[in-house]
Amino acid sequence: MTELTRRNLLAGAAVASATAALPQSTQAAAPVAGTQAAAFYRYKIGSYELTAIHDGIWLRDIDDKFVKNAPWPAVQKAMMDAHMPTGKLAIPFTTLVVNTGAKLVLIDTATGGQLAATAGSFGSNLAAAGIDPKQIDTILISHFHPDHINGLKTKDGAIVFPNAEVKVPAAEWAWWMDDGNMAKQPEGARPAWLNVRRVFGDIAAKVEKFEPNKEVAPGITSIAAPGHTPGHTVFAIASGNQSMLALGDTTNNPLLFVRNPDWHAVIDTDGAMAAETRKALLERATVDKMLVQGYHFPFPASGHIIKTGAHSYDLVPVLWQPSL
Ligand SMILES: [Zn+2]
Repeated sequence: MTELTRRNLLAGAAVASATAALPQSTQAAAPVAGTQAAAFYRYKIGSYELTAIHDGIWLRDIDDKFVKNAPWPAVQKAMMDAHMPTGKLAIPFTTLVVNTGAKLVLIDTATGGQLAATAGSFGSNLAAAGIDPKQIDTILISHFHPDHINGLKTKDGAIVFPNAEVKVPAAEWAWWMDDGNMAKQPEGARPAWLNVRRVFGDIAAKVEKFEPNKEVAPGITSIAAPGHTPGHTVFAIASGNQSMLALGDTTNNPLLFVRNPDWHAVIDTDGAMAAETRKALLERATVDKMLVQGYHFPFPASGHIIKTGAHSYDLVPVLWQPSL
């Protein structure tokens, strides 16, 4: 076997460039495609079939204010260690459809194409997965940030899932729908509060509010996970002898916040509480060896958590499987 050395790699490159200099055939080069395949991914928990539906990605400008309790050079180093650019954070969005056999349940609803030019493909990916929005029976919401609720309605206010019951955490509803709380927010935060009223205002009577530790759909249990927002909720999904956790926004991009669970992101309402919740859930996933799904994990947004230090973890993404 030829040993792969820098020298013979360079020799190969020289041959390639000499070949490139030869007259080209008349065959035209294939045009570049410039698009990806439809982004949905299926897996099973017991008898349940789960489909991860990707909505796209947001490249968020970040600076020294993004992590409130770590020096900016430490954040930049973490990004460089993860081979990310240091001024922009990739924030993917992935929802989860759970077919329990009795119900088709959607957990969070993506951006509705209303947040970033690089996101908004939920609808086309759902269609590619063979799911009609009319088939969704139940929608579970983890929290009220726009990337989780905007998909309930189009920008013009039309309902996207006409046959679905919408269930939200009672604590989240109480926090966001309180006009007194809205009045106390800084001006920059007001659009998110007005957005909650835009999405839920005229359907308020039909929205069901649930408490923690309730079976909110067959085999799906709500778990309070406060900090990111006061009512932020994660979901345990169990079927047969298998279970998993849908972690919502317990962590943002795992390359930063699973690796550094003590960091307080500026997007967490209560950074210290979010960190406590995060560590408790990551520890539980580690001890129980549970599969987890994270709304802002790289697609297909599921994997296992491993412990890498006393206060650090890492995500081991699932290996793509060609069949269920
Ligand atoms: Zn989010």
